[in-house]
Amino acid sequence: MARIAIFPGSFDPITKGHEDLIKRALPLFDKIIVAIGINSEKKYMFDLEQRKKWIKQTFTFEDRVEVGSYEGLTVNYCRQVNAGFILRGLRNAEDFQFEKSIAQMNRELAGEVDTLFMVTHPEYAAYSSSIIRDIIRHKGDVSKFIPNTIQIEDDF
Ligand code: ADP
Repeated sequence: MARIAIFPGSFDPITKGHEDLIKRALPLFDKIIVAIGINSEKKYMFDLEQRKKWIKQTFTFEDRVEVGSYEGLTVNYCRQVNAGFILRGLRNAEDFQFEKSIAQMNRELAGEVDTLFMVTHPEYAAYSSSIIRDIIRHKGDVSKFIPNTIQIEDDF
């Protein structure tokens, strides 16, 4: 059976931290689906298609990385795409505290799905989509924080 993981998040926008984590996790899985969770109560800076496009551009040459989106429970999406694993990144202790409960609850909801955490590369530990959005709002240069293959200024 294929080992499929989903990497859920908002990716608003994708950062070098996300890119690094996906690349490091690839040897563990046959396929990683970068899964954009859609929460109707949340306001995003970039629309879904734009966020998907940037993720696809980042992994143009890696056919084991796919991009998807879902509404509702993450474990339901896992079942839909036959994923046995949820991949999440840990930047700090706050991430761990928060993620631990979600992982435990998800396991109660779907015992066949397990969550795998990977610790962020120290170089990217401070990179967050929300800080990057703030820099973009104030017309700062974010090129060093986002994957080399994408250009936000041109698209936004
Ligand atoms: P969410 O809104 O669910 O936190 P994000 O798009 O911010 O979604 O993050 C998606 C996943 O990527 C999460 O597991 C998060 O911990 C991880 N992540 C966020 N920033 C980084 C980073 N700089 N390095 C590695 N992983 C990260």
